Amino acid sequence: MAKKYRERGLLEFQREFFTEEACVQHLREMRWPNGFRCSRCNHTEAWFIRTRNILDCKSCRAKISLTTGTIFHKTRTPLIKWYWLIYHMAMAKVGVSISEMQRILEIRDYKTAWLMAHKVRKAMADRDAGYSLAGLVEMDESFFGPKGSKKGRGSERKSTVLCAVSLYRDRKGEERPGFAHMRVVDNASAKTIENFLERLGYGHMNQERKNLLKAIRTDGWRSYGKAIKGQNLSHYKVVLQDPKAAGRLLPWVHRVISNAKAVIRGSHRGVSEKHLQSYLSEICYRFNRRFWERELFDRLIKACVSTETMTYSQLVKTKKLL
Ligand SMILES: [Zn+2]
Repeated sequence: MAKKYRERGLLEFQREFFTEEACVQHLREMRWPNGFRCSRCNHTEAWFIRTRNILDCKSCRAKISLTTGTIFHKTRTPLIKWYWLIYHMAMAKVGVSISEMQRILEIRDYKTAWLMAHKVRKAMADRDAGYSLAGLVEMDESFFGPKGSKKGRGSERKSTVLCAVSLYRDRKGEERPGFAHMRVVDNASAKTIENFLERLGYGHMNQERKNLLKAIRTDGWRSYGKAIKGQNLSHYKVVLQDPKAAGRLLPWVHRVISNAKAVIRGSHRGVSEKHLQSYLSEICYRFNRRFWERELFDRLIKACVSTETMTYSQLVKTKKLL
């Protein structure tokens, strides 16, 4: 069976996407892998208006934009710059610096580059929304915010983040982390945790992935117990005599959280609460694909082609997901 995603190293990427035409051609193949088909009349032939990236159906003359339904829709930035940004965002282990990308790719202003990166992050988040929590899931909440600001449940100044990592057993029977999810939430109440589990676990939008969640492992905070009441789930509580033991007793969820904090402190120099979710989605996306390094570009470009774009005003108005 042919592999679903193509592997590419840096040199192959550079050779393949050396010109704007090559990127346009690639995008055409991604949009219509089995050849063009007019969305209005089903005809299979069209003229291509290169200057506007529009296909002109030879039968009904419908004008179909190459970028409709993708994050590139209505962009004024050449595709080649998008492709190189996406490549870097796919490959960078700790995320990319947008001002550096703006400079290297000669993108007119910082805001344009910043918005482009956020569109790519939206594609990442949309892709991961298709995966559900399954099996045994380690869960905890954490607080993200400036150093020295107040900590603890119910804190005003730090953002509360729920984190969950699905675990599975490898061939030796050892626990390994599968998919990770992180969500910025208003609080760590039972209702919030219930919504989180509903959305990502037993009530998942993907019918085939519903009810794969079997058990949760937490520090025993009472909201978790309340949140799963009435659900057919086991609850393993690890007892934390010493808060420092959390890293040992809930190792995976803590590894994901500390990695996320390091990335946000390091490459993004801290982020505002409004955009925190977007960065967390990027971090989870990369964590969730850590074994597919050579496929990362192909996977991410497919995600970008399958996700509607958003405007600057939509982005700055974004509310928290829960
Ligand atoms: Zn047509």
